[in-house]
Order: sequence, then structure tokens, then C-alpha cells
Amino acid sequence: MIDIDGKTAVLGLIGNPVEHTLSPLIHNTIAEVDGNNTAYLPFHVYDENVEMAIRGAGALGIKGLNVTVPHKKSVMPFLDDIDELAEKIGAVNTVVFRDGGCKGYNTDALGFIRELKEAGMCVEDRSVVVVGAGGAANAVVHALLSLNVREILLFNRSVEKAEKIFGDFKDVKIYPLEGWKGVLTGKYPCIQCTSVGLAPKVEVSPIEDEEFFEHIESVIDIIYRPAETKFMRLAGEHGAKVFNGLSMLLYQAVESYQLFTGEKVSDDAVKKAGKRLAEAVWKN
Ligand code: NDP
Repeated sequence: MIDIDGKTAVLGLIGNPVEHTLSPLIHNTIAEVDGNNTAYLPFHVYDENVEMAIRGAGALGIKGLNVTVPHKKSVMPFLDDIDELAEKIGAVNTVVFRDGGCKGYNTDALGFIRELKEAGMCVEDRSVVVVGAGGAANAVVHALLSLNVREILLFNRSVEKAEKIFGDFKDVKIYPLEGWKGVLTGKYPCIQCTSVGLAPKVEVSPIEDEEFFEHIESVIDIIYRPAETKFMRLAGEHGAKVFNGLSMLLYQAVESYQLFTGEKVSDDAVKKAGKRLAEAVWKN
């Protein structure tokens, strides 16, 4: 339970909608365990009010905001500064207000890198399979490139859409979903970034062909609801190590909180927030 007083630093999330967000649970648990005087609230901001929300937050002395769908791109023109990685990704999910200005960051990529390390998946100098080319895949691809992968073999339903985003990247090779035949020859780490298999439509996978999964040595499926997607199940049945996206979700919040406060989040706080998050996500 947070004690709010005159010194409480206000943090929050802007998005449309925000009703189902899990961010307050994570951030307020961290504050509770680490004894920080912060309070994190959801703010439902309509598209036409994004600029006003950022200016208003600065005027109110709000210390930090997360930004979620659909404002991750549209918020960028209203920030005083943007971190290099967020600029490259072209999306901001964290805004820090300091010294009269505000700076945007992207912690989705940082959260993903932390999950990758926790999972023990080594990607340096490897060819990595990425399935999907939406907003989340964009953060994942930039994270992988920052870890010096040899190349990314990216499979997406719409090659045209993927080429619009990644067409200029020399280390990203783009194929349709069924294009893996003749391309995959050995075993690969794989990141599943489509929304296919997300609850409640859990009995589908972006790729169903059993032969594909013979080429997969490990998977992070960034979906976290259900805990095991069909993609993960098929990969697991072919001997791959499989992980869902809950740690990515947790760690992007931890990285944001650290940016907001300038202090490291304790291991105890991460553990407790992770436990509560898992209970909230998988309670049914
Ligand atoms: P987008 O809408 O930006 O992208 C969706 C992706 O899924 C595209 O590649 C799209 O292909 C593909 N896709 C959608 N429907 C189908 C289909 N029927 N068949 C094949 N491909 C399909 O979504 P996001 O990138 O924002 O999110 C994707 C997933 O990642 C969501 O499930 C979300 O929950 C999860 N996520 C997890 C996070 C975490 O922290 N763990 C963070 C952010 C997202 P096409 O380009 O052809 O349309």
C-alpha cells in the first residue's frame, strides 16, 4: 500500500485504451518493495490530446510516463529529446521529465534483451529467425542487431509491410511465412512476434508446418497470454527450449522505472512484481 503525501512522485501511462494495463501493478509493486515514494496511474488519452498530455504532465511535475498503443509514434514530435535506440526504432514507450524538459526512450527493446539473457539464448554472430514485422518485432529486430547477430531471417505474412520497415536493413532478409523452405538449413534461435496465438484464439500458430520446427533450437514467443502458445508447444515438441513474453513485459517496466527514478530496482522488487504479474495474467 502506497502512502501518498506532498513528496510523492507521480508516474503513469498514457494510451487509448488503458483499462487493461498491467503497468500500475508492476510499478507500484516495485515502489512498495523498494520503499520508494512514487505512485503510478493510468491516463486515458485520446489521439488528439497527446501533445496536451505531454505539456500538461511537464507542467504538473509528473516525473515519468509510459506510452502505449496508439501513441508510441505520435508522441515523438512533442518530446525535447529522444534516445538513439528509440529514434532508430521509431517508437517511444517511456518519457522522463527532468530539468524542465522531457526525453523519450524505448524500453521494449531493453526488456527483450534482458529476457533473452535470462533465457540463456546466445545470438551473437548467429542467424536468428524472427516471425512477424509489427511494432513489437521492430523493437526486437533493433535489439537483436544491437547484440551483433550475423543476420535476421524475417518471416511475415505481408512481405510488402515488412519491406517498408526493414527493406533498408542489409542484415535483415525478408520472406513470406511459408518462405522458410529452402532457407533454413540448420538450427536457429527464434523470436515469435506476431499476434497469432494470442488469447482467446489460442489454437493457431503463424507457422504450423512440423518441418519448420525441426530447425528451431530455442524460442521466445513474445505473447504472454496464454503462458504457452501453440507456436511454443510445437517448438517444444521438437526439442526446443521455449519461453513466453512475460519477462519481456516485466523487464520493460523495470527498465522504465529505473529511468524514471534514476535508481536500480532491487532483485526482491523484480521477483515480487514478476510473481504478482504472473498471478494477474494467468489467473483464469
Ligand atoms: P502489430 O499489430 O504491430 O503486428 C502484428 C503482427 O502479427 C504483424 O507481423 C502481422 O502481420 C502479424 N499477424 C497478425 N495477424 C496475422 C495472421 N492472421 N496471420 C499471420 N500473421 C499475422 O502488433 P504488435 O507488434 O504490437 O504486437 C504483436 C504481439 O506482441 C501481440 O500479441 C502483443 O501482445 C505482443 N507484445 C508483447 C510484448 C511483451 O512485452 N511481451 C510487448 C508488445 C507486444 P502483417 O504485417 O502481415 O499484418
